[in-house]
Amino acid sequence: MKYLLIIGDGMADYPVDVLNGKTPLQVAHKPNMDMIASKGCSGILKTIPEDMEAGSDIANLSILGYNPKKYYTGRGPLEAAGMGIDLSKDDIAFRCNLITEENGVLIDYSAGHIINDDANELIKCVRNNFGKPGEIDFYVGVSYRHILILKGRSYTNHILCTPPHDVIGSEILKVLPKAKTSVGESTATLLKKMIGDSKKILEKHPVNINRTLLGKRSGNMIWPWGPGKKPNMPTLKERYGINGVVISAVDLIKGIGVYAGMKIINVPGATGFYDTNYEGKADSALKALESNDMVLIHVEAPDEAGHSGDYEQKIRTIEDLDKRLIGRLLDNLKGEYAIAVLPDHPTPIKVRTHTKDPVPFMIYSPYVKSDRVESFDEVSVQEGGFGLVEGEMFMPLFVAIKP
Ligand SMILES: [Zn+2]
Repeated sequence: MKYLLIIGDGMADYPVDVLNGKTPLQVAHKPNMDMIASKGCSGILKTIPEDMEAGSDIANLSILGYNPKKYYTGRGPLEAAGMGIDLSKDDIAFRCNLITEENGVLIDYSAGHIINDDANELIKCVRNNFGKPGEIDFYVGVSYRHILILKGRSYTNHILCTPPHDVIGSEILKVLPKAKTSVGESTATLLKKMIGDSKKILEKHPVNINRTLLGKRSGNMIWPWGPGKKPNMPTLKERYGINGVVISAVDLIKGIGVYAGMKIINVPGATGFYDTNYEGKADSALKALESNDMVLIHVEAPDEAGHSGDYEQKIRTIEDLDKRLIGRLLDNLKGEYAIAVLPDHPTPIKVRTHTKDPVPFMIYSPYVKSDRVESFDEVSVQEGGFGLVEGEMFMPLFVAIKP
């Protein structure tokens, strides 16, 4: 038995006025998804616990069967794993953005979506100034997304860091890292000092002088957030006896896969954006299924469209996912399989950010009894045979499908 898990990031939505009160999933032409819905069984999945943030990290942990309340330690260690960084048990990993500060205000969480070459120079400069062997290290990632590691700190959630995309327009002094308890004091002080000093070093850097001349935003400050220690997760093999593979362009999703003991396959042309290589992902998944039990294919594009508030683009990403990825899979799948399709969380056009609402899901397999749902969307699945399911129960339910 082979298992295919397809996640359209942020695909679920609210009714959109210009779509006559329908959602992008309801409006999109998606014959393959609707075929899976009509032959299979649907339901609603609660991927975000009530008192947690509606993050992709939390939602995707739930989908893979890991209760985020038990296993989530922060975003940093997951992204670090996705970048191939192996943490020791006393390391704290932070996501570290390059941001733009102007007159004491945080004006851009991405330094104008800074290009890799510029970011590379700036983070190297930061590492040369603040890095200390065995204590402080910086790793260069993609664009504005980098990693800071503080080694050998006894740390159990004692500092509060603010995601920079949540505080655009805020005064820097009001949103700096804070100690939650006295244990976190020294770490918070160190972070604040590095943030302040990074401005002095980076604003004079030739890369930033050049960017300013070209009218681009300067990457003139570092911003560490999402701290956490290495999560201690049992692998999918240990839990369910299955070998898994992750196909995604996003480090966060790859990192969850690493801790779940899954293999990571990088597909050329997979961008995490509208122009991603849908066909390449489908072909890689088909190949991976030959020698593995489960393949998770993650597509970031609908989430990006949701954040942009662009309903036309969101419909297009759903149609691309349906035709170019799911259709191609269905045309070429051999043997016995179970296929599941779902978003991780909604990213509604109206609010342009993630929400905690439960998401539609569906599973088709010859061994799953079909329900009466004929279309895959937020409204139709309310009548689904699975009903409302808690996030961490999805994986046990999925892998229990057997001849
Ligand atoms: Zn997501």
